Amino acid sequence: MSLNQDHLRSIRNNLRKPHVNSTCIGCSACVAISGSVFELDDDGLSRVLHCETYEWHDVDDAIAACPVDAISWQEATENGEYANGLEEHMDVN
Ligand code: SF4
Repeated sequence: MSLNQDHLRSIRNNLRKPHVNSTCIGCSACVAISGSVFELDDDGLSRVLHCETYEWHDVDDAIAACPVDAISWQEATENGEYANGLEEHMDVN
């Protein structure tokens, strides 16, 4: 069985997930751009919501709009956790 390009792209995007590091200042630009992916937590900082895939959301626009470059794409495991032990608001080395 061969996989078509759309299927391959879908699999690839399922294995990456946006991440917000500790530099977030809670400006809410990412929430305004992609409220289905980002929300402000109780501390007023952006957090990433669970999605089956992030492929069809405006994540790249949110990354471009973030004034402190806090958002990046990160590798994710098959169960949606960040790979390599990365956690919410942890800085990426
Ligand atoms: S755009 Fe950047 S600084 Fe603003 S809330 Fe989102 S992650 Fe935080």
